[in-house]
Parts: sequence; C-alpha cells; structure tokens
Amino acid sequence: MEGSSRFLCDHMLGTLARWLRLLGYDTAYPEALHDDELATLAEREERVLLTRDKDLAARSHVSALCVVSDDLDAQIRQVLTELAPEAGEPMSRCSVCNGVLTEASKEAAKQAVPEGVWERHERFWRCPSCGKHYWRGTHWERMRPKIEEYTALVAPAREGVPSKA
Ligand SMILES: [Zn+2]
Repeated sequence: MEGSSRFLCDHMLGTLARWLRLLGYDTAYPEALHDDELATLAEREERVLLTRDKDLAARSHVSALCVVSDDLDAQIRQVLTELAPEAGEPMSRCSVCNGVLTEASKEAAKQAVPEGVWERHERFWRCPSCGKHYWRGTHWERMRPKIEEYTALVAPAREGVPSKA
C-alpha cells in the first residue's frame, strides 16, 4: 500500500478524515457501517482502511492501518509516515463531504458568503457536491503552519526521493 493516498476512516476518526481532506487526500467517511461493510467499501474504492480497531485492522483482507493514538496530531503523523502517501494538494477538497473544490468567481460567491468576508477576499472556492464555500481567511491562516508541517512529512515522495529515512 505504499504511496496509497485514498483513505476510508471508520466512525471513530471523523476529525482525522476532515484533516486528511484538508491536506488534499481523497478520504471517505461513511456513516457507521459494520466492519465487513467498511472492508468491502475500502476494497471496492481502493482505499486504505483507517481504523481505531486493532482487531479489524489485523483481520481485514484489505489494506488497513490501525490508528493507535487518540491525539489528532499523532494520528495525522502516523498516517503520513507509515503509509507515505504522495503529497496532496491542500485545500483542494471539501472537508465536510470530500468533494473536489472548484474556484468560484467573486461575483458568484457574493450570495453565499458573509459580506465582510466577501469584501476582504478575492478568491473563493465552492464544493460542487454540498455547495459549501471556502476562502483563505483567518481559519486557514491559523491552520496553515500545521498544514505545511504535515505536507513536509510527505514532500520527499513528491520529488521522487524514497520517503523512508
Ligand atoms: Zn462538500
């Protein structure tokens, strides 16, 4: 599963799923499913199953990783270092539904975002699946150092250098 960059998070890992999407990874986060259904979905969509359930990860016939920590930062680091996915493109996906964002014109965003936000920003993105709008505001600025930190963990893969030290 080296280089795999499509994930499926079990129902315990919703925050991790949102962050993997923010980092640009195609990450499914289905409503609570039985173990077998999770594995079937992962197999069908060629995703690495990320689960807090050690037994499920061990007995699963699909690529699976048991996420060991409760701590989000540690979870993200574990996924990125152990699975060594190719670098994603941060903020290319909707963190809510995993849709691929498309840039929206400023004019088109006017109805959808708060007026102050609209006035302060020139670029907007929209999720074609759920309609959520995105812009690089204070929330983004706050997350950016973390995003850069995580991206650096996988950046060598993008340059074709083996990622394992
Ligand atoms: Zn969406």
